[in-house]
Amino acid sequence: MTLQGSRIQWSEFEGPPYRTYTLSNFREIPQVRRLPKQLQFEMEVVANVFPFKTNNYVVEQLIDWRNVPNDPIYILTFPQKGMLRPKHFDRMADVIRGGADRQEVQKVANKIRMQLNPHPAGQMEHNIPELRDGTKLYGMQHKYKETVLFFPSQGQTCHAYCSFCFRWPQFIGISELKFAMHETKLLVQYLREHPEVTDVLFTGGDPLVMKTVLLEGYIMPLLEAKLPNLRTIRIGTKSLSYWPYRFISDNDADELLELFEAVSASGVHLAIMAHFNHGVELETDAVRQAILRIRKKTDAQIRTQSPILRHINDDPVVWAEMWKKQVALGLIPYYMFVVRDTGAQHYFGVPLVRAQAIFREAYQGVSGLARTVRGPSMSATPGKIQILGTTKVGRVRAIVMRFLQGRNPDWVHRPFLAKYDGGAIWIDGLKPLDGDKFFFETELEQVLKKESASAGEETSSAGGGPP
Ligand SMILES: *Cc1c(COP(=O)(O)O)cnc(C)c1O
Ligand code: SF4
Repeated sequence: MTLQGSRIQWSEFEGPPYRTYTLSNFREIPQVRRLPKQLQFEMEVVANVFPFKTNNYVVEQLIDWRNVPNDPIYILTFPQKGMLRPKHFDRMADVIRGGADRQEVQKVANKIRMQLNPHPAGQMEHNIPELRDGTKLYGMQHKYKETVLFFPSQGQTCHAYCSFCFRWPQFIGISELKFAMHETKLLVQYLREHPEVTDVLFTGGDPLVMKTVLLEGYIMPLLEAKLPNLRTIRIGTKSLSYWPYRFISDNDADELLELFEAVSASGVHLAIMAHFNHGVELETDAVRQAILRIRKKTDAQIRTQSPILRHINDDPVVWAEMWKKQVALGLIPYYMFVVRDTGAQHYFGVPLVRAQAIFREAYQGVSGLARTVRGPSMSATPGKIQILGTTKVGRVRAIVMRFLQGRNPDWVHRPFLAKYDGGAIWIDGLKPLDGDKFFFETELEQVLKKESASAGEETSSAGGGPP
């Protein structure tokens, strides 16, 4: 094969057609039919509250059905009983057993959902950018100086849904999805008004569920505007893991790689922010072909990130193996996140101290090439907070943290201390070691107050932002 001339060669890889499974047809999956009826019923109960979608690639190639119900990818994509608290589970189970109609099921589902903190971290009311003329840009978030998030309206779904996903309200339509944008014109204008922004992160859902022509409609205007401040376009995606055929055999896979090339050719770095939660996702022929094609035929760089999840990857060996595989495939480990305080956090959450211990042990087991990863990190209202470890100040045990990103850039990389708490799973479960406020809290309150005042009535929110 020659790579002279156009670097994109038509792929010879033949992939299967894409087929999805949801609440309405999951019992058609032969492997599911073989599961105990009780387990199938539990799935149905939970899938009436949380979004559920998987596909033929995940079912046939990622899940090891001999290992179900403990298989990590099964837990990652199929509804689990433990995701609902017992009282919620029982309530929904009763409604379904009683043969209630759709409307009644919906009503109960919504009641339960409202108790699951569907709108964490005040993302929406606090980070909506605005043009100088006062136009509010609901399809964007600008929280950290250098980077704006952009939610293209056609990219607000995924090839399969992760059971832990904090964006669950947007997939079931209870967030008003105000933040999806139809066009890049306003984004370009915003970038002109904000020369400090160097990175645009396309996020979703998964922007790569879009057909290439649609994605082109978002990316090309950005390139054509020749913005001197735009250095990097990032695409947050789980397609490598859930549908690698997107890059090798879908009918517009080659055009997608050409689009990647167009970004690099215009002098803008293209960063694929790939979500992988477990090493299993890096094992199939399809994912390896996909990674190889991106790396050989384009100048895009693939970086990886994942939350740490109980029942799925809360094990240092899993992380070390995953990072090693990533580096061997030419990927760059980037972030380990802590799961957010929404939805089924009680099921997937790992205490901060334990998450850090897992991170450290995994980190110690890999070469320096994999130590580009940072974490564990909480994407909280004040910023991305990394747990550095535990220590003693005099005789008092403490947790050491620092910001990797802050609402105020000046907060970044200043170590600060909390009272030791081995059970805390989020920043709001921690108390400062000294005094009654963390060093950033007074300033944060002021910033938020100011923003709420200028946001007026706008309090509807959704849980956007990476991962
Ligand atoms: C993580 C994140 C970013 C990107 O941060 P980097 O540290 O540059 O990867 C941007 N905006 C929001 C809201 C984020 O959560
Ligand atoms: S974590 Fe990413 S891929 Fe998974 S459901 Fe959420 S947005 Fe989609």
